[in-house]
This record gives sequence, C-alpha cells and structure tokens, in this order.
Amino acid sequence: MADALSTEKTQVLIVGGGPVGLSAAIELGRRGIRTIVIEQNERVGQQPRAKTTNVRSMEHMRRWGIAERIRAASPLPADHPTDIVFATRLFGHRLALIANAFYGARVKDERFSEPAQWIPQYSVETVLRDFALTLPSVSLRFGMRLDAVTQSAHGVDAGIVDVAAEKHHRIRATYMIAADGARSTVRKLVGVHMEGAHAYAQNLNLVLRIPGLGRLNPQPCAIMYWLINPDAPGVVGPMDRGDTWYAMMALGKDAGAPTESTAKEQVRRALGIEIEMEVLTYHLWAAHSLIADRYRKGRIFLAGDACHLHPPFGGYGMNMGIADAVDLGWKLAATLNGWGGSRLLASYQSERRPIHQRVINEAVENYAAIPQKLVRTDLEGDDLASVSARKTLGAHIFDSKPREFKTLGVVLGDDYSASPIVIPGSDAPPPAHFMNYVPTAHPGRLAPHLWLADGASLYDRFGDGYTLLVTERGAEHDVDGFVSAARERALPLAVAAPEDDRLRDLYGARLVLIRPDQHVAWRGERLDRDPASLLDRVRGAP
Ligand SMILES: Cc1cc2nc3c(=O)[nH]c(=O)nc-3n(C[C@H](O)[C@H](O)[C@H](O)COP(=O)(O)OP(=O)(O)OC[C@H]3O[C@@H](n4cnc5c(N)ncnc54)[C@H](O)[C@@H]3O)c2cc1C
Repeated sequence: MADALSTEKTQVLIVGGGPVGLSAAIELGRRGIRTIVIEQNERVGQQPRAKTTNVRSMEHMRRWGIAERIRAASPLPADHPTDIVFATRLFGHRLALIANAFYGARVKDERFSEPAQWIPQYSVETVLRDFALTLPSVSLRFGMRLDAVTQSAHGVDAGIVDVAAEKHHRIRATYMIAADGARSTVRKLVGVHMEGAHAYAQNLNLVLRIPGLGRLNPQPCAIMYWLINPDAPGVVGPMDRGDTWYAMMALGKDAGAPTESTAKEQVRRALGIEIEMEVLTYHLWAAHSLIADRYRKGRIFLAGDACHLHPPFGGYGMNMGIADAVDLGWKLAATLNGWGGSRLLASYQSERRPIHQRVINEAVENYAAIPQKLVRTDLEGDDLASVSARKTLGAHIFDSKPREFKTLGVVLGDDYSASPIVIPGSDAPPPAHFMNYVPTAHPGRLAPHLWLADGASLYDRFGDGYTLLVTERGAEHDVDGFVSAARERALPLAVAAPEDDRLRDLYGARLVLIRPDQHVAWRGERLDRDPASLLDRVRGAP
C-alpha cells in the first residue's frame, strides 16, 4: 500500500455490512467507539435468506431499543400464527402441525423478554442499518471493498477500493472485525482456514408471485409448509399478506440447475395445483458445515459466516452471528475504553467457538430430516395403507421435528461456564439440553429472566456494563465494596435490586454479577473474596 494514499483513522473497522457487521457496529457505537463499516454492495434484494430473528436476537434488539421497529418491519401481521404445517402437497394431505415454532407467538413467556419474529433478513438489515446511522460514532460506507490488509503491534492497515470511482483509500484501525461472510476476503488474506464438510447438496430458493394462492390455500395459516412427496419435495411459505411466496426446492447433489420454467413446474407439483406464477428471484445455494480453525489473527477478529457455516435448518446462521457481534462488541469496547484487561479479547474465541461447534452439530442433525429425507412410499393414496403411512409419518414428524423448531435450549443455552473470565461456582452447571431450556444462574449461563410485578422485564433493569443484581437485602456492605472497586477501575457497574420474592430462588444466591451480554459472571451469598480481584478476573486482567 503506497504511502501517497489518503489514510483515515478509526478505532474499529468492520468489513461487511450484513447483519453481523451491522450488529457489531451497533454494539460498539452504543458504547461510543469510533467505528467504520465498509460494504462492497448496496445489500438490497428480495431473497429473504434468514426468516426468523430468534428469541435471543430479539432480546438483543430490545436491549438496543429497536425490538418494536423489527416487529413493525415484518410484512406478516402480528397475529399471523408462527406454525409449521407438514403436508404431502399444499393441496394434498396434511401430515402434522407444529404450533408456535421458534417461540414466535406474541405471548408473555416467563423464560424470555421477547418472542421470536418472522421477518426476512433484508428487512432486519434495513432496521439495523437505519439505527446504526443514528449512532454518532458509527460511519457506514457502501460501495467500498477491502482488497488488502496488513497489521502491526499497533494497528491494522486496510486497502479499500471505492468500487464506482475505482479509487483506492487506506483505513488504519486499532482493531478489525471481518464480518465479510462465507467467502471472507479477510479470512483468506490472513490465512485462516475452514475445517469440516463442504456442499452437502444443491438447493434452489425462489421468491415467486403467485396470484390468489393465499386465498386458495386449503391448509391452516402458517409461516412454513413442508411438502413431502417423492417428485417435488420442498418448503414454501408466505412472504407477505399479498401474493408473494418463497419456495425452497431440493435439487440433489449432482443435479444441474433447473431453468426458470422447470423450476416453476417443480413448484406447481409441490403445491399440487396448476396455477400461474412469476419468478421474482432465483438463487442456488449449497449447505456446508464448516468452522474456522481460529477466530483471531492479531488485531483482526472473524465473526458470523466468515468463521462458521451450517445448513440453515433450525435458523441459526444469522442469529449465531448476531451473538458473535454482541460478544466481540462489548469486549472490544471494554478494551478500547480502557477497563477491559489484556486477556479479555482472547475469551471471544474460547467462548464462541464451542457454541458454534454445538450448533453446527444441531444443524447437521436437522439436515438429516429435510423434506426429501422424510418421503415414504404410499403417502398420497386413499387406501388404508396410505392412510396408515401418513399417520405413521405424522407421528414421526411430531416426535422428531420439534428438535428443529422448538430449540429454546440451543437459543438461550449458550454456556460460557468454562470461560477464563467467568468465576465458576462450587457445583457444575446442569447439562445444556438442546430443546428444554432450564434457566439457571450458574456462572457462564444466561441470566434467568422474569417478568416483574410492574410488567417490566428483569433485563430492562440491567445496565449497559456489568450489573450487580441483589436478590435479597442484607448485603449492603458487599455492594459498597463492589461499587468502589468498579469505580477504581472505571468499570461500568449498575446495581439492580428489584423487589421480587422469586428472585432469590431463581438465582440461587444473594448477589449475582451479570456481564454486559446478560450472562452470569459470578454469584455468591456474600463476598468471600476481595471485590477488586473478582472484578479483575471477569474483566480479563492478568
Ligand atoms: C437460503 C438461506 C437461508 C437461510 N436461512 C436462515 C435462517 O432461517 N436463520 C438464520 O439465522 N440464518 C439463515 N441463513 C444464514 C444467514 O443468511 C447468514 O448466516 C447471514 O447472512 C450471515 O451474516 P454475515 O453478516 O456474517 O454475512 P453476510 O450476510 O454474507 O454479509 C457479508 C457482507 O460482507 C460483504 N463483503 C464481502 N467481502 C467484502 C469485502 N472484501 N469488502 C467489503 N464488503 C465485503 C458482502 O457483500 C456481504 O454484504 C440462511 C442462508 C441461506 C443461504
């Protein structure tokens, strides 16, 4: 990179303006960190990709103050059931129905502060982008591509091309986040490798205009219809209240790409009726299960699809990436704001990579039970054998598919108990189950949620930094000790003492230290150690 190039300086440079890059910009921007996001494209389009912003991502949206904006941006009405219908064809025999998939029903559940939201990824990105633009320390640059990177002990130098003007710039940052997706340029430039299995099979995603289908649909209103038949297995669902539908059709590993007209024919067979349709978008994709061998190279961190890829069944990709952005965001901000210790950033990989490995395994399990793999013989006849085959398959779906659609244990079960910046308790945490989420305040787990008597979420009482949650009176001296040790370290600490008789039992201790990401860092009846050393451990100081 020639010295004559104009050089701009920032604290964090984020490469990639997808959901992960934008979420990282928000987490950093809310903490006052000067951040530049560069994105090579405009990121508009009709291809929805992720369609569910899950419970945990919605809780982050709430923390950022934009949960209602996400809900308002969904093209489906609030009362649209988040159910999944399984049928042989849309106009065929119903096999099963899984209600309240992803926990998207608008009901108050004691276990979480926000239900999931059905919303296309491009709409989520629009809300994130518009919010990021309001943060004074964040600057978004579209039409800018990174094509070179070097780093030293002091910072990262990025070579940037203004794609339209074909002009080169340089940005010097203290840290860089590579949120540049599955084909990450940064990952290749810094020599990080992906391990695992490539391209299981080809799939075709379509967005279609199918006039009248919503009115004619004989199945109950739902967000997804799994169509299980031998000649055109796939998944379809509504994109809005009008005539726009998405379809995901299986192609098989060595199948060639269908033309638009054969793709439409395949969708018609899946639906089981002759109906006019227009293809709005056509997108071929393959499922992978890959994870980066390391998430950090010096001052450069990988997040989202840049470091983990899994089949989209279960809806984890974008949501896992948003959680990466949160974890990395508060830690980078703590470091740059001076109160994060020298070991804090190392905990990003040690906390997030085992979770990605667990979720990749889940997504691969789900991939073993996609529509084409559920097909049985004699599903579509009217004879007794077919009735019996449908009943058996329906029961199998009812037993097995909640593992894909009701996995609160995965969504809320991130476990950082082995992290070096978490202080373990005297007993081991209960095993994290993939479906059943059992709230526990064991250090490393997500702080258990409660709706308080005044209707507020307990999480609304937590601060942006650490929170010392006092579940029972009688520890005032210890609280004072924490507050002055935090002040000496310029570590942001809020004290929350909501009056609620259930808190003491739910948290299993009188005092609980909660991290900026709402995970428990420590809990105890009282301070049995010097608060300064406790805070030093959780902030990653040596
Ligand atoms: C068919 C399909 C269905 C899916 N369904 C779900 C789902 O239901 N739930 C779910 O959670 N996830 C789902 N996913 C996954 C989800 O789409 C991804 O996990 C998510 O987009 C990852 O976000 P990201 O920000 O890491 O990467 P991306 O969204 O890929 O964004 C990376 C950005 O970086 C930019 N970029 C790349 N290189 C450069 C460069 N050199 N300079 C500047 N910019 C650069 C790219 O232009 C891109 O905009 C699905 C994916 C697919 C393909």
